[in-house]
Amino acid sequence: MSKPKYSIIPKPQKYTVNDGTYTVTQDTAVLCIPEFIKAGKYLSGFLKTKTDANNGAIKFNKDASLKSEAYKLKITTEGITVSASDENGAFYGAVTLKIMLMQAKSADGVAVLNCCDIYDYPKFAYRGGMMDEARHFFGIDAVKKTLDNMALLKLNKFHWHLCDDQGYRIESEEFPLLNEISSKRKYELLGGAEILSKIPGLQKGGDEYFHYYKKDEIREIVEYAKNLCIDIIPEIDLPGHTVAILAAYPELSCLKGEYEVFCENGITKDILCAGQEETYEFVEKLLTEVCELFPYKYFHMGGDEASKGHKIWEKDCPVCQQKMKELGIETGKDLQAYFNNRVNEMLKKLGKTSIEWNDGIYDSTATDIIGHYWIYRSPAWIKKENDKRKFIVSPCPTLYFDYSHSVVPLKKVYNSNVVKSGFVNEKNVLGVEFESWAEWIDAFDVWEFSVYPRIFAFAEGAWTEDKFKHYKDFYKRLNFFKMYMRSKNINYSRIEKKVWFRVKNKSVFHLGNRGNEFKYNEELKKL
Ligand SMILES: [Zn+2]
Repeated sequence: MSKPKYSIIPKPQKYTVNDGTYTVTQDTAVLCIPEFIKAGKYLSGFLKTKTDANNGAIKFNKDASLKSEAYKLKITTEGITVSASDENGAFYGAVTLKIMLMQAKSADGVAVLNCCDIYDYPKFAYRGGMMDEARHFFGIDAVKKTLDNMALLKLNKFHWHLCDDQGYRIESEEFPLLNEISSKRKYELLGGAEILSKIPGLQKGGDEYFHYYKKDEIREIVEYAKNLCIDIIPEIDLPGHTVAILAAYPELSCLKGEYEVFCENGITKDILCAGQEETYEFVEKLLTEVCELFPYKYFHMGGDEASKGHKIWEKDCPVCQQKMKELGIETGKDLQAYFNNRVNEMLKKLGKTSIEWNDGIYDSTATDIIGHYWIYRSPAWIKKENDKRKFIVSPCPTLYFDYSHSVVPLKKVYNSNVVKSGFVNEKNVLGVEFESWAEWIDAFDVWEFSVYPRIFAFAEGAWTEDKFKHYKDFYKRLNFFKMYMRSKNINYSRIEKKVWFRVKNKSVFHLGNRGNEFKYNEELKKL
């Protein structure tokens, strides 16, 4: 038995190399049962060969004994077989085979593959990545390219952050002002707060910024993702992070003031009024309209960073105060739990399971809401919540790819795991997700720079069991994917080790507008 010949990320759980080879040519047909047609098309599209319902040397078979998303890939001197119990499993078998073919293929299109047995399955059912297009808008081609690469890494959840203080990005027929007003802000580039505002390139500026996705464009992306076995999870952040909505519909606020779509990074205190029924009627209509576009189980209702707004509820808004009296509660925290529990009920009626950021989760938050862990909480808090609800784990900054590579290097991402983050009850951990907030990621090439190559380290942590993971071995396998990234024109970061660079003695944590980290690396080289 020799060592695996091909570099596969994420690393398969069991990979045995056998004697002999099998040669794939352009005439090699793919035989595929109808249930696994996505896998067959994915592979034949790459081979530029055909799918054949009767004959083929590459066969996709059903094996009901395998668990969900698992696959077996067997290459013998006679042919190639992929077995799986479901569509995703068959698809991941096709992905692994595609990665092998990419490495074995010669210029004439012939690939000589070494015989092997692979048995593979994911560690986590939820393997996600988030793109924030509320702060900056990247467009359909960028999303499709990202989905292609997520599929290659067996990631299956695309969390799409389309609504925030800085913009609302979904076409609405129900509430047209959400596009006329909320999708538009005065400046393309957002300003930085405090020390960051002194960094060249972190001032607000540029032209008026007006973007949103038409419903047909969203449907096109949803269809594209479906063929790659990726679910799309939209996020409508509620009740905070809603200034863009309030700019169009100020009657939904507590103070009924005038609001503008936000042109800064940071958190505002403005919040939806949780005391009046009009707010709930608006939210229900909006969610009904948005859910129709996304035929998936999960829906992200945000819930984060609303505590500044709690003060308005508690001190300034008589309607919210009256509501709190009626409910027999005293704090903004309890009112937020009431608010998000009502949103959860609306989403359940629409057939969805809700996800909420962990800082919006309080003692009275319904336990069928999935927690999305990002901001630090004590081990005692995590234990209590981990025992009563399901979680997705995205510790900040380790899985926050908007943090610079010098602060969150590749190895740190590789070595992160949910138990280290405090989630010892792994039965209640659905999985993991990387985040990439786009306050200062103002173009898609900068987004790629922030995400790659860390996404490879992340994907291996999401898929491969810890006992099979080794950083050195991963790093060697990454060499092939560096070539891949260059061939696909992916603007990946070459910074892999922890380095610190400073501006006026303060550490700089984020990538800047126009890919500022490039500039600071040049500065760094001079040191
Ligand atoms: Zn209010």
